[in-house]
This record gives sequence, structure tokens and C-alpha cells, in this order.
Amino acid sequence: MYDVLIIGSGPGGYVAAIRAGQCGLKVGVVEKNPLLGGCCLHVGCIPTKAMLHAADVYELFLHGAEQGIEAENVRVNWARILGRKNQIIQKHAKGLEGLFRKHKVETIHGYGKLLGKGRVEVKGPEGLREVEAKNVILATGSEARMLPGLDPDPERILTNIEILDLEQIPKSLGIIGAGAVGVEFASIYRRFGSEVTILEMLPRLVPVEDEDVSAELARQFRKQGIESRTGARVEQVEKRPECVEVEYQDADGRAQKLCVEKLLVAVGRKPNTDSIGLENTAIRADRGFVPVDPYMATAEPGVYAIGDIVAASPQLAHVASMEGLVAVGRLAGKPVRPVNYRRIPGCTYCEPQIGSVGLTEAQARKEGYPVKVGKFSFAANSKASILGSHGGFIKIVAEEKYGEILGAHIIGPQATELVCEMVTAIESEATVESMMSTIHAHPTLSEAMGDAFNAIYGLAING
Ligand code: NAD
Repeated sequence: MYDVLIIGSGPGGYVAAIRAGQCGLKVGVVEKNPLLGGCCLHVGCIPTKAMLHAADVYELFLHGAEQGIEAENVRVNWARILGRKNQIIQKHAKGLEGLFRKHKVETIHGYGKLLGKGRVEVKGPEGLREVEAKNVILATGSEARMLPGLDPDPERILTNIEILDLEQIPKSLGIIGAGAVGVEFASIYRRFGSEVTILEMLPRLVPVEDEDVSAELARQFRKQGIESRTGARVEQVEKRPECVEVEYQDADGRAQKLCVEKLLVAVGRKPNTDSIGLENTAIRADRGFVPVDPYMATAEPGVYAIGDIVAASPQLAHVASMEGLVAVGRLAGKPVRPVNYRRIPGCTYCEPQIGSVGLTEAQARKEGYPVKVGKFSFAANSKASILGSHGGFIKIVAEEKYGEILGAHIIGPQATELVCEMVTAIESEATVESMMSTIHAHPTLSEAMGDAFNAIYGLAING
């Protein structure tokens, strides 16, 4: 009998398992894949960032002459890029096995299904077995959603999985959806030479971000030669011998066609809850998503849910991890704070990167806050000049009277790292005033943060 059995070993499940081990609980993890790590490690966060890094390196070499570094005959070894990506995945999957050994976490290979009353069926390579646990944590993650009526085709109509291992860089790539998946793959393949066209149904790229960030990304993508068609409603996709043909209605309601060698469908992810035995419990999923209380407990006693399957929770690895810590702390009887969903960093690794936390300006105004905004462009930051990366800005959204920081929105160099300061600031309830008197080292990109806060009162020194 396990104290806790976790189904799924992604960033939700493995973090929960290690914490359960640290609490001295007897813990098992059911994993259907031979390797630990889930989508994030194998077909999500990690491989995409490895490919994005390769694109960064290639770009540096291509434009090295601007910085006095001249290289001839720079070329892409695609097989080596994919090989390095795979090595990174393997290394970290092995690392997880080591961590599991260290924390006495048992791995049970197979597909887990709830049978009710603390019993879980595991269908594994050696057949069926039943496992008992005092608590179960569901951490089964999600998979790419397809457009209705469209079948994926591993050769030409791709999801986040197939696009990671293409034999060659496609001449042209169409991308449906300008969320994180869409814009990250646009940034990978454009820089390796593909003609990239994005079709986004909503009026702007990265629609969950602040509107100024979307506008800046559209501008930068245009400069890079990425074609963004927003307000584009995809109606039909046909596989022709010469190309994949996408029929869509443009923003003016006119019928348009796009012909591409490969098509990536990046229109969101659906929770993996169809066949995990929810019907044997009191859990009533909402379009596949599992409702939970603030401590991740479901309607079924002793069953918790974390990560991409949770209703009204953003599908992000670091959210899954924190939800895992909350669930384990709760079931282990430790003091634990629920996740504050307004303090979650969003990091999108397109070029330029985006890092954001808290409310956008429009959301803050809609919530009725008296809003003050400070904005500072990287064009006036000396470290950005040194890096040769000037595009973008930092935008701070603050409450006018008490200087509460409501949100921070960064697009530009190292935005995914810079946003961490803002998460800490908001988490520790720093104010605009305390951030204005925080010393930022010189020369750094984070100096732009100090300038952005000062800009709220028209006091930015460098801009
Ligand atoms: P998403 O929901 O973030 O974006 C999908 C986009 O597709 C939306 O902008 C939507 O308007 C658009 N869309 C939907 N149907 C369409 C249609 N028929 N025609 C044109 N556009 C259409 O989904 P995603 O980008 O697939 O990502 C899935 C999840 O994974 C998200 O929660 C995302 O945040 C997460 N993710 C995060 C990262 C990161 O943090 N760096 C990276 C990848 C994915």
C-alpha cells in the first residue's frame, strides 16, 4: 500500500513524487512511457528550447561580422542539432531516475487507471496489475488538440511532436495558432531558413499577452520575414500532391489559400483524462478538465489533480510543479499555501523572448484599478547594445495610489530570465517605490527594470 501514488512523471508528477519522498512517504509513480519526464522533457519545453538555442547560435555566427567576428561557410548540421537535443533529453531523463532512487520513489511502468477507493489498475509490459494507495495524484498532462475533422499526418500535418524530428528543414512552414507553441516554432524554423506563415484566428499574436507586447512581436516578426496573418479563420485543410493547402477566411472575410510544405497545428492542448477511470470516482470533468479545491483535491476523497488537466489552471510546467508541491504538502499534513494564479510567470521563448507576470494593462483597467504605466525600451540600455539586441521593452502596470505592482510585461533580450525579478517582487509585495530604490547593477539588462519603474513617474534616467 502506497501512501501516495502519482500517475504521470511530467514536471507535475515528478516534483510531487520527490517532495513526497522528502516527507518520508511511501511513493510510487505510474508512467506509461519507458522514460520519465513527460511531455515537457520529451516533446515540449526542453527540446524546443534546445532547438531555439541552436537557432540563436546560428544567428550569432551569421551576423558575427557586425561584431568583428568573421566566419566563412557557416552552415547548419541539422542532424547534429537534433542529436544534441536528444542527448539533453536523455541526460535529464536519466537524472530523474537518479533523483527517484535518491528519494526512494518507485516507478511502475504502465498505463494507470483509477478503479475507485484507492485502487489503481496499471496496464504494463508485464500485463495488468492492481496497486493500492491511500492517496492518488493525477498528473496525466495533455496532448495537442487538432482542428475538428483534421487528422494529423506525421509527414505533413504536424503537432509539437513530429515537428521536433523533421528529416530536413522545410522550405515552407504554415503554423495554425500564434500561442506559445506557434511563435516558438516560427522562431526556430524561420531562422533556419523556412518561409514561415502564421495563421491566427484572433486579432493579434500571443493573445494572452499585453497588447503592446503582441504589437512589438508582430513588428519584429515582420522584420525577420515571418508572415503573420491575424484574424484568419482556418476552414479546411487539404493534402495536395505538391503541398498542404489551407483554406481560410482573412480578417476582411475574404476566402484565402495558403500552400505549404509542412503545416503545424498549434491550437491548444486537451487534457489526458478520457481513459484514466474518472467514471469510477465522484470526479465530474468539465470538457476533460478536472475541478479541484485550492489544495488540488478533487471531488473524490484521497484523489488530487495537478498540471494540465486541472480546470482553470494555465497549462505550464512550473504551475504543474507548484500544484504538485501543494497537493503533497496537503496530503502529508504540512502547512502549505495554495497557488496564487495571479503570480505566475509566463515565458515564451520566441525571438525576441517574452516574459510576463500579473495583469496586462487592459485587464487592470477592466478590473477597475487606477492604473499607472511605466515603459522603458531596451534601445536605451547599454547592455542591450553590447549584446546587439535592441528590440523590445519592459512595461510595468501599477496601481496608482499605493504603488502596488499589478503586472510586468517584457519583450526583448533575456526576457524569460528578467521576469523572475518581477515574480519575486510581486510575491514579496514590493511596491513601485521600493523597486525605484532597488539597486540594479550596471551594465545589465535588469537596469532597464529600474528605468521602467522610474518611468512611471517620468523619472527614467536613461530614456
Ligand atoms: P494556445 O492556446 O496558447 O494558443 C493557441 C492559439 O491558436 C490561440 O491564439 C488561438 O486563438 C489560436 N487558434 C485556435 N484555433 C484556431 C484556428 N482554427 N485558426 C487559427 N488560430 C486558431 O496553445 P498552444 O500554443 O498550442 O500551447 C498549448 C499550451 O502549452 C498553452 O497553455 C501554452 O501556454 C503552453 N505552452 C507554453 C510554452 C511556454 O511556456 N514557453 C511553450 C509551449 C506551450
